Amino acid sequence: MKVVIIGGVAGGASTATRLRRVDETAQIVMFDRGDYVSYANCGLPYYIGGAISERKKLFVQTANNFSNQFNVDVRLNAEVTDIDLKAKKVTVRTAEKTYEESYDKLVVSTGAEPIKPPFPGINDPRIFSLRNVDDTDKIKDYIDAKKPKRAVVIGGGFIGLEMAENLTEAGVETCVVDIADQVMVPLDFTMAAIVHRHLKQKKVGLMLQEEVTGFAPQGDKLKVLLKSQKELAADMVVLSIGVRPEAALAKKAGLALGLLGGITVDEYMQTSDSSVYALGDVVEVFNPVIQKHVLIPLAGPANKQARIVADNLAFGNQYKYSGTIGTSVAKVFDLTVAAAGVNSKVLDREKIPYITSFTHPNSHATYYPGAKPISIAIHFSPKDGRLLGAQVVGQAGADKRLDLLAQVIKNGGTIYDLQEIEHAYAPPYSAAKDPVNMAGFVAENILHGKVKVIHWWQLKDLNPETSQLIDVRTPGEVSAGLIPGAINIPIGELRKRLDEVPKNKKLVLNCGVGLRSYNAARMLILNGFENVYNLSGGYTTYAAVTKKQSSDKPFASD
Ligand code: FAD
Repeated sequence: MKVVIIGGVAGGASTATRLRRVDETAQIVMFDRGDYVSYANCGLPYYIGGAISERKKLFVQTANNFSNQFNVDVRLNAEVTDIDLKAKKVTVRTAEKTYEESYDKLVVSTGAEPIKPPFPGINDPRIFSLRNVDDTDKIKDYIDAKKPKRAVVIGGGFIGLEMAENLTEAGVETCVVDIADQVMVPLDFTMAAIVHRHLKQKKVGLMLQEEVTGFAPQGDKLKVLLKSQKELAADMVVLSIGVRPEAALAKKAGLALGLLGGITVDEYMQTSDSSVYALGDVVEVFNPVIQKHVLIPLAGPANKQARIVADNLAFGNQYKYSGTIGTSVAKVFDLTVAAAGVNSKVLDREKIPYITSFTHPNSHATYYPGAKPISIAIHFSPKDGRLLGAQVVGQAGADKRLDLLAQVIKNGGTIYDLQEIEHAYAPPYSAAKDPVNMAGFVAENILHGKVKVIHWWQLKDLNPETSQLIDVRTPGEVSAGLIPGAINIPIGELRKRLDEVPKNKKLVLNCGVGLRSYNAARMLILNGFENVYNLSGGYTTYAAVTKKQSSDKPFASD
């Protein structure tokens, strides 16, 4: 069997090595139009920022290694320009020649390309995007040679924020511009607000709801032009407004594409042509939460799909890919920002009913030094408690919590499963009731009507004539801020001061994060108060979302 692979990085390279491990006789030819195979795309921003100091560390494998160790015929600087499905051959263009290569089976792992809209001035050499080693070298060389003072990062997604951090680490003052009212699309606004605050603390400028319309040189600077008529003068720009599947080759060949422009594959990762498999960023994957095909360009799925493709090539279609729920994580300075499943925007769009709960438990037992709050948002079905989405923002331990939540989502589990997660506990690592258990307990309280929740965005609809906000924190805590209209009755005094609580009003209780106010709500309910609500996420959530989200000025040193 002769297998030709197009694309030699995450999906392609992993397919080649797995295939060799299960089939010693297959002839494997792998094309990549770039200079390198199997490099660490995910590490590229950290080489720019200096956390990865040696460039050679970016290369997981070399072409030589592939050839010696895996007997894979790697052809670099070789672009596949055509696929002839009928004749089962590809056309390959190199600097020297154009030639054809036949195949028995073809694997397409051409990835996704950064979106680069035709803005006026887009070809200015100071505008960069980041996909591969060449892009990385260009950015790194520019920073080393020109010592830019200021950068504008357009797009506050994972790569944009990783670049904002790494440019800052490289000594470049950075401003992030985004057309949306928040960064990090997988998050809900409520969770993104925590990231906004952190970026500003780290002196990264944040310009939200700002649309870039073009670029123009101004002296030795480059102006970023915004629809709002504002202009940002910078020394360099990193464009990271998203990627799209690199599917033109597949489309030209006649392979079926999905509605979102990715290659259509079945559960065996087989395309509309039975001799062709495809994987990675170029394919549309099934998302079991919304039961639809989506684009989820991440390294984990690409690598796992590679094993399935290789095994199906070697043994016939036996292995199925179960889909992707979009489990992702990013480091944003001191924060870990992670999500799995779907967020409220997707649930609204898909008209899937859901309940949301915010909790802010501590990373580990508070009596052991160093505990930090972790913010958790979960969305679950009001019908059966099925977990639909989870987001975690925090420091130590945030990633492991998201991973636990992700497994429950992936396995079609519920908030009851969260309660039963058996975690490893010792005070430096967790609490006897882990944050994911707590998220499950709170969700069950909501689902079973032990308490009614209200969210920060619903507070504006409260009528002061018929409702009363009660903050049950201590006066010391309240002195730093109180929701307008709230009265303060600390929980320790509430039993004695029940006569101050209006009987005929809707009561909305809050504390710092929602736990004490839940206790207070139960106390009121058991004392005969009926219309009692707990503010989900408490004052912590409220304070994060109601502040101005953008920076006052794009560059902190102005
Ligand atoms: P790629 O790895 O992009 O490989 C595609 C290859 O195909 C490219 O080398 C391309 O040159 C080649 N190619 C395309 N067309 C042709 C052709 N016609 N002929 C020959 N060669 C061709 N994901 C995570 O999960 N976590 C992260 O932290 C993370 N960080 C990232 C950071 C950056 C800066 C980038 C760019 C991506 C990051 N990703 C991350 C995404 C992850 O790298 C991709 O999801 C993954 O690489 C996809 O694998 P792939 O094989 O589909 O495509």
